[in-house]
Amino acid sequence: MTEKSATRHLWLGLTVSLLASPAVFADAQVPAKENCAVAEHTMGLRFQQQSAEVQALQLQAYNIATLKLDAAVAAAKDPSKLAIVTDLDETVIDNSALLARDLANCHTYDAWDTWLPWERDGTPALIPGAKKFLEHADKLGVTIRYISDRADEQKKYTLATLSKLGLPQVSEESVLLLGPPKVERRAIVSADHQIVLLLGDTLHDFDGRFRKTPLAEQRATVAAEADKWGAEWIVFPNAGYGTWSKAPLQGWDAETVIEKW
Ligand SMILES: [Mg+2]
Repeated sequence: MTEKSATRHLWLGLTVSLLASPAVFADAQVPAKENCAVAEHTMGLRFQQQSAEVQALQLQAYNIATLKLDAAVAAAKDPSKLAIVTDLDETVIDNSALLARDLANCHTYDAWDTWLPWERDGTPALIPGAKKFLEHADKLGVTIRYISDRADEQKKYTLATLSKLGLPQVSEESVLLLGPPKVERRAIVSADHQIVLLLGDTLHDFDGRFRKTPLAEQRATVAAEADKWGAEWIVFPNAGYGTWSKAPLQGWDAETVIEKW
């Protein structure tokens, strides 16, 4: 690490400490922040947790989902044969408090080694618009399936979390955790239902072609399926983590010119 980047990391670490809760900030045991790689996620996580724009995007996604669901139900003979399949994390529930806690402690949260205790004891919030949309689907008689890569061996905790948040149709049968890949769990649902909407923040929530696939291929598939976004596939913003998080940025190939205005 260069001296310059070490200074930058130290500064970022200090910023992270100042953002932390008073209890964390006052804790003399917080490790030195000279090598705080996770601080790179600060801006993304701030956008995800604090921006009003993310709130607006989430409400926009659920508004579109409602329009599409209403149209599908109006055209269906038996709405109970229709299903919506939704992801959980960063689609229905907001886990940013865990990520912010870990970031404040310079703990690389996307190593996911603090996730299992959060599943058991954490208190995620609802994503804006999620509960209203799911209750609407429930009232229409549409089947809801929650397909998530939370730990199946901790399913009772996830069921308790979803029930506590007051979400509809939460049961052993309706919540399908990791497990087989999501594409296989969607096939279980489509064996006896017509899936009319998929909702998620990660592209493998929509199609197996996105799973463990390089970014360039993901982008090509996103473009090839352009008509599905906002129609059958409802995508949610997640700036906190994703398969893009280590991707190098591409800059303008021109010398920097600074002028006041
Ligand atoms: Mg998710």
